[in-house]
Amino acid sequence: MILSDMHVHSAFCDGVDTPKELCEQAIKLNVQNLGILAHSYVDFDPVGTLSIDNTQNFIDTVNELKKEYKGKLNVYCGVELDGMSNISTTPFDYVIGSLHYVEKDGKVFTFDNGESLFVNGVNDVFNGDYYAFCERYYEMLTNFILDKKPDIIGHLDLVTKYNYDNKYFNTSDIRYQNAVKKAVDKMLKLNIYFEVNYSQVIKGAKKMPYPEKWITDYILRKGGKVLSTSDAHKKENIGKF
Ligand SMILES: [Zn+2]
Ligand SMILES: [Zn+2]
Repeated sequence: MILSDMHVHSAFCDGVDTPKELCEQAIKLNVQNLGILAHSYVDFDPVGTLSIDNTQNFIDTVNELKKEYKGKLNVYCGVELDGMSNISTTPFDYVIGSLHYVEKDGKVFTFDNGESLFVNGVNDVFNGDYYAFCERYYEMLTNFILDKKPDIIGHLDLVTKYNYDNKYFNTSDIRYQNAVKKAVDKMLKLNIYFEVNYSQVIKGAKKMPYPEKWITDYILRKGGKVLSTSDAHKKENIGKF
């Protein structure tokens, strides 16, 4: 069996370890394909992203490792392109397309970096209507994915990050399910991978990966492709799925 983990972050963005340390760990674990990637630069929220100045350094570093580990480990240099980022993806081997912010009427907030930012954002921008927030997210995600055509769609239902036990919205609600299915139906036409992202399971925050099982089942039933990843931010978490 070939073990691949195509979603691993290094200290070049918000991860802990150097790309070389990630490679060493991958070899220990018998991982054959390792995708080291960085969050794309977002000008209004640059913390934890790959700075423009450091982009070439990151690419050169990972490309050196490809040569160094040739025959032992296949190393790929990727980018986790945010839907609100403007960078060129040309120099990267592959792209994971992810959306970590929602925008409406010129107001932007993140729903991925603390529960209070998420709740305050939905209150301020959507008058506390979580279904309207989700509909906007899936609409933005679909437009972004159809436009940029990445290789992989990252953590499809990231909007559920703080929605433990349906605390803010019910994912069985027809309004939510329709928004998801409409987005998936459009994205399926691209024949790209939907990521099954274990980051919150590895952290112990959730029992199941993104997206919820009914969504993965829906994707598979419709003939879509899925790919499991760790979204590891430290080497110990590589391949934990
Ligand atoms: Zn992400
Ligand atoms: Zn990530």
